Amino acid sequence: MVMKKISPDPDNFTIWYHYFAGSLPDLNLVLDEMLESGTDFSAERNAEIHARFFTVDREAQTLHDTSVRMESLLADILAQAGAMGEDAAEYGEVLKSVSGQMGSVKEPDNVKAIVTNVLTATRVMEKKNRDLETRLTESTAQVGKLKGDLEDMRREALTDGLTGIANRKNFDMILRAAAMESAENGDDLALLMIDIDYFKKFNDTFGHQVGDQVLRLLSATLRDCVKGQDTPARYGGEEFSVILPHTSLKNAFAVAETIRMQVANKKVVNKKTGQDMGRITVSLGVSRFDHGEPLAQFIARADQALYLAKRTGRNRVMTETDLVESEAAC
Ligand code: GH3
Ligand code: MG
Ligand code: MG
Repeated sequence: MVMKKISPDPDNFTIWYHYFAGSLPDLNLVLDEMLESGTDFSAERNAEIHARFFTVDREAQTLHDTSVRMESLLADILAQAGAMGEDAAEYGEVLKSVSGQMGSVKEPDNVKAIVTNVLTATRVMEKKNRDLETRLTESTAQVGKLKGDLEDMRREALTDGLTGIANRKNFDMILRAAAMESAENGDDLALLMIDIDYFKKFNDTFGHQVGDQVLRLLSATLRDCVKGQDTPARYGGEEFSVILPHTSLKNAFAVAETIRMQVANKKVVNKKTGQDMGRITVSLGVSRFDHGEPLAQFIARADQALYLAKRTGRNRVMTETDLVESEAAC
């Protein structure tokens, strides 16, 4: 870490502890590749690696902290409600004894003393009520904040940190729901798998940080090319995917072509230096959900079509139909 000028903070220690322990093979693959290519371990890059491999721990910690806060808040509210019950019972006793005293009262002065007692007890009770109301209002505000924190955490857990689009976990959930809906309604469901062409070379030439900028650019393009019901997601590394409910294979191919052309037509310019870095292209594979098939099979078909696009020249779209035809030709 000293050699690579990596800040010795807890997150970075976690990364390199696991690297040397060899407990996460995927983490070692990424770090080995970065070490080999001499990539800069910038603070942003370190944070991304940490988020990619260790966010679950952080989520679990936040969830734990939130539930502890929620428990203590509930205990507090219950204690306040309990105390209020006792106070009300005490006040009831005062009223009962007053009503007893009133029955045997003879002198008007005695009535005055009794009424004064009742008034004092009522004022005490009123103050306690007001205090309880204030405390309950505070507790309600805290519950609202906790709810907001939980919502933020859920959104964060389902969003890719680098690009701001759905992450893999979210992709899995949305695809499962879309497949169930498609099977129930008999509607079409299509899937695009997208992979940047020669991205390793791009990273090696311009650096990982510029590569990351390209990943953001591609995500923005995906967002621009799809409609509200469609979900673009970062499937992993430099692979993306789009879930297209209610979409036939033919229409999904058209969406894929639009994406391919939009990407190929965009100039990549380094935001910091203004340097023109040419263009990037993507290859895409398209599959259509066969109702009842395992989701892994649905994804694998789009993946195979994607690799057919790679094999046949890149910067192109292939569908599962092309896959069948290419197999028949073999
Ligand atoms: P192909 O056309 O066959 O897809 O070639 P490729 O070079 O894109 O494919 P390969 O799988 O060999 O390399 C993928 C590269 O993507 C390797 C790695 O440097 C890069 N990559 C993966 N994840 C990230 C990331 O989060 N940020 C950046 N900048 N690069 C990444
Ligand atoms: Mg790839
Ligand atoms: Mg690639």
